[in-house]
Amino acid sequence: MDYKESCPSVSIPSSDEHREKKKRFTVYKVLVSVGRSEWFVFRRYAEFDKLYNTLKKQFPAMALKIPAKRIFGDNFDPDFIKQRRAGLNEFIQNLVRYPELYNHPDVRTFLRMDSPKHQSDPSEDEDERSSQKLHSTSQNINLGPSGNPHAKPSDFDFLKVIGKGSFGKVLLAKRKLDGKFYAVKVLQKKIVLNRKEQKHIMAERNVLLKNVKHPFLVGLHYSFQTTEKLYFVLDFVNGGELFFHLQRERSFPEHRARFYAAEIASALGYLHSIKIVYRDLKPENILLDSVGHVVLTDFGLCKEGIAISDTTTTFCGTPEYLAPEVIRKQPYDNTVDWWCLGAVLYEMLYGLPPFYCRDVAEMYDNILHKPLNLRPGVSLTAWSILEELLEKDRQNRLGAKEDFLD
Ligand code: ADP
Ligand code: MG
Repeated sequence: MDYKESCPSVSIPSSDEHREKKKRFTVYKVLVSVGRSEWFVFRRYAEFDKLYNTLKKQFPAMALKIPAKRIFGDNFDPDFIKQRRAGLNEFIQNLVRYPELYNHPDVRTFLRMDSPKHQSDPSEDEDERSSQKLHSTSQNINLGPSGNPHAKPSDFDFLKVIGKGSFGKVLLAKRKLDGKFYAVKVLQKKIVLNRKEQKHIMAERNVLLKNVKHPFLVGLHYSFQTTEKLYFVLDFVNGGELFFHLQRERSFPEHRARFYAAEIASALGYLHSIKIVYRDLKPENILLDSVGHVVLTDFGLCKEGIAISDTTTTFCGTPEYLAPEVIRKQPYDNTVDWWCLGAVLYEMLYGLPPFYCRDVAEMYDNILHKPLNLRPGVSLTAWSILEELLEKDRQNRLGAKEDFLD
């Protein structure tokens, strides 16, 4: 699901115009796009505010925010409206990141998500219609050993969208041949290739060329492509995002946090051993399988090089664990992942990321300069490993010497 840039707001007369003659208010028009359906919702600021207040109470850890109320001044000032529109749009983007938010009945109503004419059919695939006309821009991508030249979208029944990330979407799919379920990640080539960093695709290819196999990394069965899209056939991991569980329970007891941290560390150590730096470990990429083991998704498939400028603007909805060197845009290496492990562990134990602050700029400043604030409630061992992982100087960080062995 994704929300495109909201269109210019329109001012329309209030419906009880006949009673209060000149009363006017600004209605924000937001283009909602889900799968292949797109529609507009028109909402007033007050409606956003109401939804925001409901959600804030129910999901205090989600760091949702909307632009502040304006008490004085002209509410029709174009600059003001523009700013507010950007803020409201961002709020909406954050809502659709998390199933627990977009499945909330108030959110669904607000976005008119259940209106029948918006039901998208995820199986519908443009490729099959447009594959005849070869686009000059389309490019064949080397999918490495996982590439299966015989596979095609019509091998699957696409059942529903289960995730949406920065580059594409992930669909639950049933393979017609054997009735098995898979998570199929679909990326638009043109989006991948348009991103200014052509090196993404290179990075992706490098990962694809390696045979990545580990119990705590999502398994890639095979991949294929059409003129417009790349398809990755992955294990369907059905235990939900780790942080969905964390949000429900606020924090985990230490033994549980230790278990997840150990599995994540093991996966990271393995990736490092085959020269892959995960770099942006974040809550939404840590899934649990049906028996409760960690499964990391999204390693190396086109995330390499997502510029920090992209991150800063969408930060509140993307609690990414940014290491100081990443914020400073300095070179990074394996040790960046050990910072992220520290951040995940911290959040599992305390319920909020380290250095957390609603204000993003301040949070960045805290990550760079503020000493780690460790509150009581965890063991000395946990305390010391957090300090060592969340060490600002990557050369002194736990893992700097012998990586996983440390
Ligand atoms: P992006 O690179 O766009 O962030 P991801 O691979 O992280 O894409 O997938 C987006 C979301 O889809 C994930 O956060 C997760 O919730 C869901 N998802 C991804 N892969 C799987 C999978 N194999 N099984 C179940 N859900 C998945
Ligand atoms: Mg992701």
